[in-house]
Amino acid sequence: MSDSYKAIFENNRKWVESKLQQDPHYFDTLARIQSPEFLYIGCSDSRVTAEELMGVQPGEVFVHRNVGNIVNPIDMNSSSVIRYAVRYLKVKHIIVCGHYNCGGVAAAMEQQDHGALNAWLRNIRDVYRLHRDELDAIEDQQARYDRLVELNVQEQCVNIIKMAMIQKLYVKQGYPIVYGWVFDIRTGLLKDLEIDFKAILSDIMKIYNVSGSKDLNFDKSEEDKPEEE
Ligand SMILES: [Zn+2]
Repeated sequence: MSDSYKAIFENNRKWVESKLQQDPHYFDTLARIQSPEFLYIGCSDSRVTAEELMGVQPGEVFVHRNVGNIVNPIDMNSSSVIRYAVRYLKVKHIIVCGHYNCGGVAAAMEQQDHGALNAWLRNIRDVYRLHRDELDAIEDQQARYDRLVELNVQEQCVNIIKMAMIQKLYVKQGYPIVYGWVFDIRTGLLKDLEIDFKAILSDIMKIYNVSGSKDLNFDKSEEDKPEEE
């Protein structure tokens, strides 16, 4: 067995020791319940770890990761994660977090056959097609690549907002709210893309209103409910 493999268990033992030193009941508490406020949907990239870059502890964020931080309506995996997070964990914030220098986005920009990955990468290629005018106008290749990372996050946020359960829950309780972030792997900093959730939701519901609600007056519903962070 390789040393790097064995080191994992040694690391784990040390981690348990340090946690118990800080709080002897740490694992008793952790075992009892999880009540995260955040659902984080990010890329599988090994350099982009949700808890570390957000500075949160186990129990504070529910996580889903795949190549290119994609939310596709026929992907049972991400759909189930979102459903579980909003229905049962009652998360208030859903974050889609992409990252610069994303291999998935880079592969989608290449005119190459990526075998089994092709169907998955098509989600990102579709984002390119949707925003082709803007992207093709960017001459600098790195800047175009960075912008596609951002637009991919934005479109995955839109895919979440298209989901009936998100629309229904927001109309009913004022959350969850969807946010788009990019992790800048070159500086370590998180960038909030400041996606206008309410404007996107209002626009989307003109076409994708699957909430069953006829009253989509968000301004009115806002008066009834406390503003979410
Ligand atoms: Zn990536």
